[in-house]
Amino acid sequence: MLPSAWNSSGEEPLSETIPPENTRCPVCGGSATVLPSGFNSFCKCPTCGHFRITPTTKIPTEIAHAVSAATREAHDQGRTLNLEPANITDLAAPHLRTTVAEKLDKVLAYLASKTVYPGSYYVVKAGRDYPVADAHDAEEFGVYLGYLDAEKLISEAPAIDDAGHTLTVRGWERIQAQPRPGGEPGRCFVACWLADEFYPEFRNAADQAIRACSYLPFWINETRTNEGISDRVLAEIRRAEFVVADFTGQRQSVYFEAGFARGLGRPVIWCCRQDGVQGLHFDTRHLGHVAWKDAVDLRVKLEASIRANIITRA
Ligand SMILES: [Zn+2]
Repeated sequence: MLPSAWNSSGEEPLSETIPPENTRCPVCGGSATVLPSGFNSFCKCPTCGHFRITPTTKIPTEIAHAVSAATREAHDQGRTLNLEPANITDLAAPHLRTTVAEKLDKVLAYLASKTVYPGSYYVVKAGRDYPVADAHDAEEFGVYLGYLDAEKLISEAPAIDDAGHTLTVRGWERIQAQPRPGGEPGRCFVACWLADEFYPEFRNAADQAIRACSYLPFWINETRTNEGISDRVLAEIRRAEFVVADFTGQRQSVYFEAGFARGLGRPVIWCCRQDGVQGLHFDTRHLGHVAWKDAVDLRVKLEASIRANIITRA
């Protein structure tokens, strides 16, 4: 994963030894380290996270903040996006229609992920962290911080130094409360088999299909969390507008997650690789049933099913 310009220990090269090609992030325009990576560039931006970009990729100004949001989100989930002309619009789309209420919730969720419990602090920097809320810039993000502070959902550390923010008990109550009926628009929870021989290929194809429909897929095993996995799974299913459940491998967890989602009234798109359909323990006439033969087939059929069964309901 690391570009060859990095040393084997994974430490960043010193600027004296390997001068960066330039010091401007091609997405947000801020200070960044840009290193050659084959024909492409590998960028390390404190705001956008780490990502790769092809030489011909130009980021339209009007969606630059949404591309930052996509690369930063991927980085925070341990993934590295490759920006190219063909995928810029799709990557930006889920971050362009975020409502103000959702942005406020994203700020709270980000702070919660960094502080873990009330009374612990984290230094939120508007100029660095605005993409986590799909905000346009530091100023917009600062407005949300000010509002959340005024509403006593977050508070600043009493110390003089840069000790940061914490969520108040009210703030925790807000983010741990039952999400609104119907889940958050644009979010999709994916339940599937996590085995090495299955997951990477499935994930890649399903991720592309979901994002092509302007939804944001949530992959639970790629999110660093200090919470118990089960609590987080249930919370994320509640937050999701719909669920994609793939039954290849016959995992009990997938049956459970799909059933839980159905119980909450969330639409579930039921998927299975063709060679496993015979063994399924459910009626295959469900909404959005997708039997696929390979990754390309899954990519096409899942996107079609989301468009037909989810988008048309909205
Ligand atoms: Zn950047």
